[in-house]
Amino acid sequence: MNIILLGPPGAGKGTQARHLVDTRNMVQLSTGDMLREAKDSGTDMGKILADVMARGDLVTDQIVIGLIREKLSGEKAGGFIFDGFPRTLEQADALGALMASEGQTLDQVIEMRVDDAALVERITARSTCGGCGEVYNDKTKPIPADGKCTNCGKENDFKRRADDNEESLKTRLMAYYKQTSPLIGYYYAKDMLKVVDGLASIEEVQGSIAGALDG
Ligand code: AMP
Repeated sequence: MNIILLGPPGAGKGTQARHLVDTRNMVQLSTGDMLREAKDSGTDMGKILADVMARGDLVTDQIVIGLIREKLSGEKAGGFIFDGFPRTLEQADALGALMASEGQTLDQVIEMRVDDAALVERITARSTCGGCGEVYNDKTKPIPADGKCTNCGKENDFKRRADDNEESLKTRLMAYYKQTSPLIGYYYAKDMLKVVDGLASIEEVQGSIAGALDG
């Protein structure tokens, strides 16, 4: 089964994708993670990406479609979770064409619906383990007192993203509403959309997504 997790920054796409990887042997394809890797490569392209991403704007369709194309032809998995992709109608069309050319189908799109005010709070409190990507939140899931990641045990390697600040978040939210939210209608019309309440607890959202996938 191949699925898309759709939702604004901070909706919990990454957290839920990691759970699906652990429990269903799926492969997470996060364009944000791929771009952060490319950004840290020290190349000229990396510098351009760093600027665009720090502002909170979208990287060009051509670049992200290229990244996904490489992954789709390279990996054969029990199922892909597209996390943070597609983010524009052009990317959505490209994904449909790529999947068809690989003989694959896109099965479901899960929209994680959340309230804007909650996003600011979530994002500005967020940090992740540099070892495994486990997500922490200063209020709801603080970094353990012994400094060891609860998932992988790595010590004192917690990172905050450069774009997890209020100003970049506003740009990221605007990009979501202007460029990405039309995908809700796009996939609804294709009869692929399921909506879950992204404001519920992590476990409840896990349950709703499982219900959507297995229902
Ligand atoms: P994310 O980790 O998904 O929040 O993505 C972080 C940043 O990477 C975004 O704010 C964009 O600058 C860029 N990005 C990630 N995925 C895409 C995409 N599908 N299209 C364009 N830009 C993207």
